[in-house]
This record gives sequence, C-alpha cells and structure tokens, in this order.
Amino acid sequence: MRILDRGTIKLLFETLDKLPNFAAKFNWTCCSSCGFHAITDYAEEKGLNWETCNTLFCHMQDCQGSFARASKPAREDDEDPEGDDEDPEESEGDPGDKMIADLYITWNGNGKEITKCIENLGFTVEWNGDKGTRLLLKNV
Ligand SMILES: [Zn+2]
Repeated sequence: MRILDRGTIKLLFETLDKLPNFAAKFNWTCCSSCGFHAITDYAEEKGLNWETCNTLFCHMQDCQGSFARASKPAREDDEDPEGDDEDPEESEGDPGDKMIADLYITWNGNGKEITKCIENLGFTVEWNGDKGTRLLLKNV
C-alpha cells in the first residue's frame, strides 16, 4: 500500500486542473462557501463556464484535518499547569505531510466524470451519487 502525502494529493489536484473543462484547487481558501465563490472566479479566469465545467477543491479546514501538521513552533507560554509536555521528540522526523484521514472534496459539475477522472489517476474516491454530497478521497 502506498502512503499518501500532501504532495501527492496536491499533484492530483494540479493534474485534474489541467484536464479540459476542469478547475481544481488544493488547499483552497478557508471553507466551502469561500472556496466555491473563489473557484467559480478561477474557472472563469480560465475561460470556462463555471456552470457547466467541473470544479473541485478541498479547503484548508479539511486539509488541516487530513494531513498531519508539521510540529508547531514552540509555544512561549511554556508554563503548562498540567505539566503534560506531550511529545518533546515531535520535531524529529517531521510527520507534517502525511495523510492521516480521508479528505473531503467540494465539487460542482458532473460528479460521475469527476470521480472517474480521480479513479483513472489511481485514487480511491467515495461518492453516493447525490449532487449535494461531497466526494471523499480515501486515504488508501
Ligand atoms: Zn471561508
């Protein structure tokens, strides 16, 4: 089994973005509603009709949940009352980019075509066929 990481997923979105009639962005804006507005602008900049093209993105909040974060910079308030300095070794072997959970993808357009393209690129994606349901890119 391969290990998915942030770079791999970013590349997936970049590859999708190059397909005809696609606009795809990774780590795109803070949330779904901002992302949707921004990606329709982006699609139009690319000369696409956002109502008929395939747009998809994953936003930062979802990315934060799906990728292990690089160890946070040391906090200044080091006086932890509970004294649980949990993982002092965390900075070793920076886990930062590892995919740790399935990733939601917000999309618009032709869901079947989008899932097929993702699958053709060798990824597993779950979708229940409902227009209003996000795609779930599986961490497998
Ligand atoms: Zn937002």
